[in-house]
Amino acid sequence: MIEEKLALFGGPKTIGRTFKKYNPIGPEEVAAAKEVVESGVLSQYLGVWHADFYGGPKVQEFERASESYFNVKHAITVNSWTSGLVAAIGAIGIEPGDEVIVSPWTMSASATAILHWNAIPVFADIESRTFCLDPDSVRANITPYTKAIMAVDIFGHSANMEAICEIAQEFGLKVISDSAQSPSAKYHGRYAGTIADIGGFSLNYHKHIHTGEGGILVTDDDVLAEKLRLIRNHAEVVVGPKGHTDLVNMIGHNFRLGEIECAIGIEQLKKLDRLVASRQKAAERITEGLRALEGLTLPIVEEECTHVYYVYPMTLNCDQLGVSRERIVEALIAEGVEGLLIGYQNIHLLPMYQNKIAYGSKGFPWSAGFCQREVVYTKGICPVAEQLHDESYIGYAICVAEMEESEVELLVQAFRKVWKNMGELQ
Ligand SMILES: *Cc1c(COP(=O)(O)O)cnc(C)c1O
Repeated sequence: MIEEKLALFGGPKTIGRTFKKYNPIGPEEVAAAKEVVESGVLSQYLGVWHADFYGGPKVQEFERASESYFNVKHAITVNSWTSGLVAAIGAIGIEPGDEVIVSPWTMSASATAILHWNAIPVFADIESRTFCLDPDSVRANITPYTKAIMAVDIFGHSANMEAICEIAQEFGLKVISDSAQSPSAKYHGRYAGTIADIGGFSLNYHKHIHTGEGGILVTDDDVLAEKLRLIRNHAEVVVGPKGHTDLVNMIGHNFRLGEIECAIGIEQLKKLDRLVASRQKAAERITEGLRALEGLTLPIVEEECTHVYYVYPMTLNCDQLGVSRERIVEALIAEGVEGLLIGYQNIHLLPMYQNKIAYGSKGFPWSAGFCQREVVYTKGICPVAEQLHDESYIGYAICVAEMEESEVELLVQAFRKVWKNMGELQ
């Protein structure tokens, strides 16, 4: 097979079929959802100070199960992880104009959650090894206005939490973990997301486990947990009757996750270990199969860490290969490889940041009097993230296919064939 002509030039395609779609939902979730629907109680929340302020039975059960799984004191469900991030930034007591250091190599909500409280995202660069925040760049971006660090555990691997927490301690900052893509990833014996002041996970359809939409916040801090619950559920009307006297950011939302989703979540959580193990097994076989290919850097798993492979990240050394990334990807796609992503996010380059137009048309919040300095978003502030995006990074969306043994084998063959014929692409 690998001796044959590239499909790009009319040769036979290595992968002649679409891989079976990853689907973690089964009869258990159907039964759990049916039970809730039949009960007629699809959400039991009340947005007032009452026993039902904390949600109904499935919300409670899912939260207790999550606390036990992640080994945290508090798990708080929300209707999306975007909502969870907004609640987290509010709960840490952010003030308008405060700066929060965040990775540009992430889903946009990691940074917009900061803007939602009229605080200012400051983008630090990432490490090319893990694609997570580079602690040295975090340190270099600290100003007297910095209040927190939003560490993102991207693609399934934890950020360098030891170094990040050390910096946070030194400067008196809070740390939030966006572990949307890394549920069950281990970092020094603990779960990603549980090392920060507040962390959490997405339960969106595209993630390892899902409830359609949803999220879980985790924290060991009783005070932060209560603030998160208040922001989730109409804080402003609850604080008085509840006797909650700290009014900072007690502007509530409806971030509540319903009973059906939580019932599904309970079943999904039971499957998480197995689902993650299947991703890991596939990724390890891909790594074995591709290890010998020149100019291709495969995922790195740091000491005392595990990778849960939401994405299988790779970098190309195009100078060494003498072929552009776009040409290589074109050849792989022609071989039938689906789910390849060229580059990832450089959030700081989005039009909203480039033009500083968020709330209204006049540059708020950046233009407001409470901002004490001008934060810069020009290209060049995150050279590693920019180079990876523009030139060398490719990701394989390993979480979109079931990745049986035969599928892994086909994927590996496609890569090997392209590499064997690299000369033809020059
Ligand atoms: C998916 C994702 C989010 C947002 O989660 P939703 O549940 O879709 O709102 C935030 N951050 C990262 C890194 C994500 O991958």
